[in-house]
Amino acid sequence: MSILKVARMGHPVLRAKARALDKRDIREVTIQKLIDDMIETMTEYHGVGLAAPQVHERLRLFVAALDGRGDDEEEPKPIAIINPEITVVGSEIVEDWEGCLSIPDVRGRVPRAREIKVRAYDRKGERIELRAHDFPARVIQHETDHLDGVLFFDRMKSFETLTFLEEYSRYWAKEN
Ligand SMILES: [Zn+2]
Repeated sequence: MSILKVARMGHPVLRAKARALDKRDIREVTIQKLIDDMIETMTEYHGVGLAAPQVHERLRLFVAALDGRGDDEEEPKPIAIINPEITVVGSEIVEDWEGCLSIPDVRGRVPRAREIKVRAYDRKGERIELRAHDFPARVIQHETDHLDGVLFFDRMKSFETLTFLEEYSRYWAKEN
């Protein structure tokens, strides 16, 4: 496995729309290796999600560790989600902090649907349907946005909460 180079804000690949994967291609060695490398890259940089465009691949695929916040809780096993289709459940919107490996050292508060359903393929090419709320739902929405060239800044209502990581840890992390 290898650690991949992560595209940073400003790289055009982050603004491009990614293409769907053919179900038959999912089991190909190149895609399986990409998934393994993305998981390793996400883990190396302490991310909770990483989308293919962030590693310069215009494919509708992301990996995510969905069960916790990745701090000192038990490490969730990362999964791959391919060609995700999100349906919002209910109308509740919640605002919470987000960061992005493509926008290093910055946090901001982003409104997201509290609960969603997502239909997708897993890494074996099997159909899956997940229901998620709160933090995992936020991660799925953030990563799916990457597949459409959308960054979390685009979803913020105002930039008042934009915060460098150091100041976030100092002033805001405990409030959360
Ligand atoms: Zn991101």
